[in-house]
Amino acid sequence: MRALYPGSFDPLTLGHLDLIERASALFDQVVVAVLQNPSKTPAFSLATRLDQIGAATVHLPNVEVGSFDGLTVQYARHCQAQVILRGLRALSDFEFELQIAHTNKSLDPAIETVFLATATQHSFLSSSVVKEVARFGGDVRHMVPTGVASDLARLLNRTSPGT
Ligand code: ADP
Repeated sequence: MRALYPGSFDPLTLGHLDLIERASALFDQVVVAVLQNPSKTPAFSLATRLDQIGAATVHLPNVEVGSFDGLTVQYARHCQAQVILRGLRALSDFEFELQIAHTNKSLDPAIETVFLATATQHSFLSSSVVKEVARFGGDVRHMVPTGVASDLARLLNRTSPGT
């Protein structure tokens, strides 16, 4: 079975990566897809986000990286994914995620949304928190893959921590 894991991934965190690793053990194929959301101005370009995900998942042969705009169910059909995968960190994610899952189900009843609970040690992580910490000079190396930490340092015009 093939799963589509859509998100902004702006940038990829260790929480996202943990979800991808666990999904790669559950599904035959996992497509991690960056949503190009016209209502959001991303910190990282689409190309950079694709590179970040590609580099962090190089050890997972059944993980592919893609991008899309428009409806997630349309892209799921395009990828021949039967499952849309989302992560749940806390109760606060639940209402929004449930609404999206119901919307997607109403658009295509053949596609199921599957939620994976975040690993407890990553439950506080979000792309926004990572950017906020990095912006104020905090160490983000325990929050993001190595390549992303360097990209954040470059974005904020600082020398990469530890280099
Ligand atoms: P979106 O903008 O679509 O919410 P994100 O890139 O923020 O995209 O997140 C994509 C998915 O990953 C969402 O399902 C989100 O709940 C999940 N996610 C975000 N952070 C974590 C984390 N720390 N652990 C597990 N899942 C996460």
